[in-house]
Amino acid sequence: MICGASNQDLPSISDLCAIYASVGVSCIDLAADAAVVHAAREALDWVEEHKGFRPWLMISLSDGKDAHFRKAWFDPKRCPSDCSRPCQRICPAKAISSNSSEGVITNRCYGCGRCISSCPFGLINEQDRSIGLKDFAALLQELSPDAIEIHTAPGRLEEFQKAIAEIMSANVPLKRLGVSCGLQGYGITYKDLSKELWSRYRCLNQYGQKPLWQLDGRRMSGDLGKGSAIFAVGLWKAMRDLSPPGPLQLAGGTNNYTINYLPKGDAPAGVAFGGMARKLVQPWLLEAQARRISLRDWPEGWQAALEAANTLVRPWLARQFHEASAIRN
Ligand code: SF4
Ligand code: SF4
Repeated sequence: MICGASNQDLPSISDLCAIYASVGVSCIDLAADAAVVHAAREALDWVEEHKGFRPWLMISLSDGKDAHFRKAWFDPKRCPSDCSRPCQRICPAKAISSNSSEGVITNRCYGCGRCISSCPFGLINEQDRSIGLKDFAALLQELSPDAIEIHTAPGRLEEFQKAIAEIMSANVPLKRLGVSCGLQGYGITYKDLSKELWSRYRCLNQYGQKPLWQLDGRRMSGDLGKGSAIFAVGLWKAMRDLSPPGPLQLAGGTNNYTINYLPKGDAPAGVAFGGMARKLVQPWLLEAQARRISLRDWPEGWQAALEAANTLVRPWLARQFHEASAIRN
């Protein structure tokens, strides 16, 4: 089970990681950024000391432009003074200020893109924050993660091969290399996606890597409800006989509803939560920030956040995961 903490507001990264590590996720997935990783490690050290276990630390990279690595931006001076600010209302991360002289609070934006289509004047742009391939090796040596997730997309095999060559040149021991790919927005079939995954498998095979496959249903839409959950589960069901060897994990639209749509007695190898995991505990993270303390130093808030996180995680931990040992080993 992976809990995403990419592109999150830096002061809350540490508490976010501490919450989800404490309720038992196997892996925390983070932006490949030294400050973010440092904050997460502090939390994982704390959890190991207090709970006696430590999830893996996974960092996310991309072999090209990817929505997971973008931020929204607009110039508030260009906004009409009578705009009702639909961008602010639609933002699930409270990343657009209510102050009309301010725009996107960059540290809070995780790039879901909903504000972009909400602006009636087309004033919001996306900024690509992905890391260039040539910087992969040095970054990996600096961050020394337990695992990597590489985001790829249909039609990007060549870029993927270059990215993997760079990752391998870093010579950093990895417990797992995850490959995240979906078909949303590419107009392709399940069979086409299968071909894409098999080509990645052959590439990784050359390096002796055993991939974990992450099926990206509807990107960053977990907080949108049942429809996203149904789509993600549908993709997993369709791909389980079409994917190359390796654990198959649900992502992209996963939320509290997801587990209800799985066949009885059956489950994927894992599940990744991003936006939903953040959204559930966001009120306490923001309150702790407003108090200028760590959430762990506010017992009532910490307990409430743990209970909220548990509503998402506990049902999955109670479920028998297929190939769970493969992810742990
Ligand atoms: S709606 Fe999404 S993309 Fe826009 S500011 Fe909020 S988090 Fe960022
Ligand atoms: S919706 Fe567009 S015009 Fe209105 S405040 Fe947001 S960015 Fe500005």
